[in-house]
Amino acid sequence: MGAVAGPEIERLVQLLARLPGLGPRSARRAALHLIKKREALMMPLASAMQVALDKVQVCKTCGNIDTQNPCTVCTDPKRDDAIIVVVADVADLWALERANATQGRYHVLGATLSPLDGVGPQDLTIDALVARAHDSRVHEIILALNATVDGQTTAHYITDLLQDANVKVTRLAHGVPVGGELDYLDEGTLSAAMRQRTLF
Ligand code: ZN
Repeated sequence: MGAVAGPEIERLVQLLARLPGLGPRSARRAALHLIKKREALMMPLASAMQVALDKVQVCKTCGNIDTQNPCTVCTDPKRDDAIIVVVADVADLWALERANATQGRYHVLGATLSPLDGVGPQDLTIDALVARAHDSRVHEIILALNATVDGQTTAHYITDLLQDANVKVTRLAHGVPVGGELDYLDEGTLSAAMRQRTLF
């Protein structure tokens, strides 16, 4: 598709197209929408992005992204110090928060171990996690990692390292999704759900 607008607008479209979930077509639509809603949307968005750019930082305790450091979750006095939920990415933390799934605190690893992609333990915040797990207030480490080979490799690796810490290590259940129909599940999910059945 050839350029239909000046380089400034084309640049806006190209940058928007790099956002997850936006392809070239929807990026063009989004750019046009922003331009039409210049006062109501584009200006507030630009200033919100500038503020975020200035203020957003990585929490030095848990690895969450926030405008304060330590982050809102780490400084919330109502959170349970006994539980640390381990996630691979900030997106996972935010997903668990949206679901209101835990009152515990978090630890963001930054990635999962992936020998094939050259991601080793030194690339993750595992040392910091082990240190936090040795805090006497911590009783449980919940491994909320992806049900993929890399996620489970990471879970096993961390579990081994936490042998000496006085904590219970748990992981998320794998099984039938809420609203899921058995007939549509893949074999791996079905057999994991059968293995991890619970008392009714
Ligand atoms: Zn934090």
